[in-house]
Amino acid sequence: MSDITAAGTQDNWTCWLCDQPVDPDASVNSDLGPSVDTYASTKAKKGVMAVERLAHRGCNTMKGKISPVVRWSPDLFVIDPSPIFEAVERLRAKGGREIVARCPDERDAQQASEWLLDRLSRLAPDLKLVTQINPGGGQYVLALTLEQ
Ligand SMILES: [Zn+2]
Repeated sequence: MSDITAAGTQDNWTCWLCDQPVDPDASVNSDLGPSVDTYASTKAKKGVMAVERLAHRGCNTMKGKISPVVRWSPDLFVIDPSPIFEAVERLRAKGGREIVARCPDERDAQQASEWLLDRLSRLAPDLKLVTQINPGGGQYVLALTLEQ
């Protein structure tokens, strides 16, 4: 139980995968109850590290047996969106720049950028991430990089 409390406090009682609140008092046997999710994160200097996050029991990746999936908001206009979790893990391990989506116009790209930075502030609070929006091929390319 203390593990759940620690993960819950760290993640402000928000599920790290679906981004919805987790009720600390819900039964741990219910799909909406709190649980600790563990995954192996690749860190540039420290190698592979187990990270513990708060998840609904129904969202939990069961100790790394299933790759975490972080969904894009269905309200955004994004074309070819990249898997968010994998893009963030590559940035964490190697730095550089990840193209994460293309948008039909600049306003859509701006909205996607705002949503993504807000979502990443909870998904990867230890990383300082910034977005770049560049026109290309009649669309707007949204890229993610570490703040310099
Ligand atoms: Zn969840």
